[in-house]
Amino acid sequence: MAVEINLAGRRALVTGAGRGIGRAIALKLASAGAEVVLAARSLPELERVAAEIKALGYRAHVHPVDVSDVRGIPAFFETAAAAAGTIDILVNNAGINLRSPAEETDFDAWDKVMRVNLDAVFFLSQAFFKHLKAAGRTGKIVNIASLLSEAARPTIAPYTASKGGIRQLTLALAVEWAKYGVTVNAVGPGYIATEMTEPLRNDPEFNAWVLERTPLKRWGAPEDVASAVLFLVSEHAGFITGQVIYVDGGWLASL
Ligand code: NDP
Repeated sequence: MAVEINLAGRRALVTGAGRGIGRAIALKLASAGAEVVLAARSLPELERVAAEIKALGYRAHVHPVDVSDVRGIPAFFETAAAAAGTIDILVNNAGINLRSPAEETDFDAWDKVMRVNLDAVFFLSQAFFKHLKAAGRTGKIVNIASLLSEAARPTIAPYTASKGGIRQLTLALAVEWAKYGVTVNAVGPGYIATEMTEPLRNDPEFNAWVLERTPLKRWGAPEDVASAVLFLVSEHAGFITGQVIYVDGGWLASL
């Protein structure tokens, strides 16, 4: 019998699904049979991705949200779940990066990055967990971490701190919610070609450094990350929780 990943009958909420890695995750989960709920701020981007998914014959809903409004997250989650139906999978992908020397990083910049990259992930996970408990169901959470959950580069201290936090939050929720049948894992992308990294790819020196520093000698594609997420939400990963899988072309392994 062929081994396959079949998410038919499952429903996944993906944040930051309007472009880049989130879009690829949404397309991948939908292609495996999941119904997807697409969330981000830009409605036109979400509608574009939903149209792509529907054109392939799969199902998608759009729910615009600004996750930095952390206090609004419980209401957002309830509304999205009421409209779409029970959600089984949460992918916390939305993220931002702001670059500045640490000594020039003001409170607003620090707060903005932390709210989107870390606070929102906690409160979305909490809302999802309460939703699962009320429905008497098990579920799967995948957080999008980063190489900067493990390593550091100059001028992105808030981002690095937030992604280090994601690693530990993944472990904390995994051990707390395992007894409810909820697995919590993370995928840590390496350098992936998306809008977020466009300025880096357009910088010839940085681009050359990434290619030289990455053993597989290329930028990752959003689909590389999406494949790891697909595995983690599948039944093939049933005994995996509290892990961070790095999809980085060998970057972390290489000195
Ligand atoms: P993009 O900038 O291409 O996309 C980010 C997505 O997040 C967009 O859909 C954006 O939509 C959404 N988003 C941003 N802010 C908010 C907000 N306040 N509320 C709701 N949605 C929001 O980024 P990538 O696809 O490159 O990155 C996705 C994730 O992967 C991030 O967590 C990032 O940190 C992580 N990552 C990326 C790497 C890379 O090399 N690209 C490397 C390591 C980690 P909108 O603006 O419409 O809200």
